[in-house]
Amino acid sequence: MVSYVSHLECAFSGKKYEPGLIHSVSEEGKPIIVKYDLKAISGSVSRLDIEKSKDPGFWRYSPLLPVSSKRNRVSLGEVITPIIELIGSSQFIGAKEGNAMVKDESRLPTGSFKARGLGLAVSMAKELGIRHLAIPTNGNAGSALAAYSSRAGIRTTVLCPDNTPEINVRETQMQGARTHLVNGLIGECGKIISDGKSQIDWFAVSTLREPYRIEGKKTMGLELAEQMGWDLPDVIFYPTGGGTGIIGMWKGFQELKSLGWINCNLPRMVAVQSTGCAPIVKAWEEGREFAEFWEGAETISSGIRVPYALGDFLILEAIRSSRGFAISVSDEETIQMQKEIGFRDGLLLCPEGAATVAAYKNALESGQVSSEEKVVLFNTATGLKYPMPDVYSRIDKENVDFSTFTN
Ligand SMILES: *Cc1c(COP(=O)(O)O)cnc(C)c1O
Repeated sequence: MVSYVSHLECAFSGKKYEPGLIHSVSEEGKPIIVKYDLKAISGSVSRLDIEKSKDPGFWRYSPLLPVSSKRNRVSLGEVITPIIELIGSSQFIGAKEGNAMVKDESRLPTGSFKARGLGLAVSMAKELGIRHLAIPTNGNAGSALAAYSSRAGIRTTVLCPDNTPEINVRETQMQGARTHLVNGLIGECGKIISDGKSQIDWFAVSTLREPYRIEGKKTMGLELAEQMGWDLPDVIFYPTGGGTGIIGMWKGFQELKSLGWINCNLPRMVAVQSTGCAPIVKAWEEGREFAEFWEGAETISSGIRVPYALGDFLILEAIRSSRGFAISVSDEETIQMQKEIGFRDGLLLCPEGAATVAAYKNALESGQVSSEEKVVLFNTATGLKYPMPDVYSRIDKENVDFSTFTN
């Protein structure tokens, strides 16, 4: 097996880089992305080949992925994540029945969609002979990196701000990463890693600072298209932090279109952020090409607590060229929606996922989205990783008051 990668290029300047070598960011300090020989793919691979693939989860899209030897694929049993219609909560949201769907990424290894990006990044690290990976993280990226690296026999160092949710720090350590808490923000953890490069032979897999995580995240879009019968929804709501998912899906849709595997209109891409950290929303509202650093970022949705995104211009480009928009919701709205969806539909969303539903509800009310449009909301991780309210009710087994159960 060989890959169909033609070359790599800077997503900002278009300058080309050679595949098969280790790359971080471009000379301009911008993300490097992977380009494929799409002609060669369409000449030798069909949609039917993909549909018949026996490879686990996103590995079925291998012709559109950069790993050139099957031996280097690092897998923990990935699955195709289900698309679940919101039924019990659709009226509450104001959605038309059948038009509101959740793509539930919580079913992936380590309980979040970070498995896609880091599964790919670790596989490419293995292919390129990298022996030590390092990452600054607020949570789910650390555990996904730890799990895939341990599986591949690659040493991993994870630096977390000391306010990272405890469960994320512990699961990361339990999956084999050297895990450290830092009295600083994620950017400061990243600085330690870049400062350490001259002394420690580690490679940083920070968001968009290497070319391959985005290729993994792209598979969310490929998978969605295949699941919908090579069709796509009208609108996608995506909780946006570093933006690899929105950028990756948008890249994937262009590739599918070039291959002639889809003919539909592309979805409007909606970036959802928290009012406590909304640099992309601000930049979109002001019509800017780049986003400014967000001071004092604070939200319970730790996956989207990202004050500065290296790929800001790519996120904004995906939103604009898809005629989408960016929208923020408060933590109160998010917490309330998480509860509503749990109560009404039996889905325990992560706060980031609940934020997309809250944003959808608001967008229906404001008319930014119509109830006639088919919408897919991304639940990016399992709600089990986050703090939940206490249970207060106590029953004394010697003295049961049965009226308790009818209240
Ligand atoms: C990382 C993360 C996000 C943000 O993902 P990006 O694609 O980098 O914008 C959203 N939700 C959760 C749960 C995350 O862990």
